[in-house]
Amino acid sequence: MKRFLLFLLITVQLHAHGQGKYGAFHGKRVLFIGIDGCRADALLAAMERGLAPQMKMLSESDDGLLTRKFYAGGEMGKPTHQPTVSGPGWTSLLTGVWMDKHGVKDNGFIGGRYQTFAHFMFRIKEVKPDAWCASFADWPPIHTKIADLSRLNDKEFLDEKFTATPDASRHYIDNPEKDIEVRDEALKSLRSCNADAMFVYFGQVDEFGHGATDSRASFSPDSTLYVNAISHVDSHVGELLRAMRARKKFAEEDWLVLITTDHGGRGNGHGGDSDEERKIWLIAHGKDLPRERLLNEPTPQTAIVPMIYKHLGVTPKAEWNPEPQKP
Ligand SMILES: [Zn+2]
Repeated sequence: MKRFLLFLLITVQLHAHGQGKYGAFHGKRVLFIGIDGCRADALLAAMERGLAPQMKMLSESDDGLLTRKFYAGGEMGKPTHQPTVSGPGWTSLLTGVWMDKHGVKDNGFIGGRYQTFAHFMFRIKEVKPDAWCASFADWPPIHTKIADLSRLNDKEFLDEKFTATPDASRHYIDNPEKDIEVRDEALKSLRSCNADAMFVYFGQVDEFGHGATDSRASFSPDSTLYVNAISHVDSHVGELLRAMRARKKFAEEDWLVLITTDHGGRGNGHGGDSDEERKIWLIAHGKDLPRERLLNEPTPQTAIVPMIYKHLGVTPKAEWNPEPQKP
């Protein structure tokens, strides 16, 4: 009887907590952190001033890197050219294609072709139904649009999903609080679940850039409030990394960590083609990164999804219509 109960308990645990020691991808896992509207020179300024020590340490550690050759906004003058705003930007980061394919031109999401160009976690579940995918965000369209519109027959594919909604009527003053809620839910998952792929989105940096949270702030390395928001999110990143490394099976796991943004900004806005908006950054940490290429060659933000597939050993199907990749 006891043995039966133990068996039952273990079965329930596995169900509640996703895959075990060797997950659907033999311990290969992905932690993808998105920081909305984080301008590259402001991140570097935060690092230089000792205000973003967690991301600095990760990028300077063995197997880590920071590249500024990463770009948003598609190819100038080509059909892929897209505005540097969140709707098209996060769609490119989460589906691996530009606007000429995904069809999202603004934050209205009208015309989005997610049934053809789906969220990468939908694709992961398509090839490995027993994979565990988790997403945490406080910009609701990340889930209500990009994820939900990728569903087949409206069937949920995310095993864990947490959406916090900042209060626009309070001028987003609670955005930093919502980031804390997102962080805490993601920490819970890292401690008690075994996600093969995790996406964690923080929104406050963009809100500070817009002056929504404090009218004195702007998208600039000279804006103390903006740089402080980056610093605040850096501390969340640090907590996520500590929880990842503290996992019981961490030594046997192989994590790819990716941290990036959807766009930069100028003054209190973004959407245009300036370097401050288009030229973004990527922090990556992992054993199998294409280091030289990422550090030396311009790399589009559509390259995140193929990097995730490569790490997990997922071969994209032709009908997913992925962007052609450099070998
Ligand atoms: Zn914005």
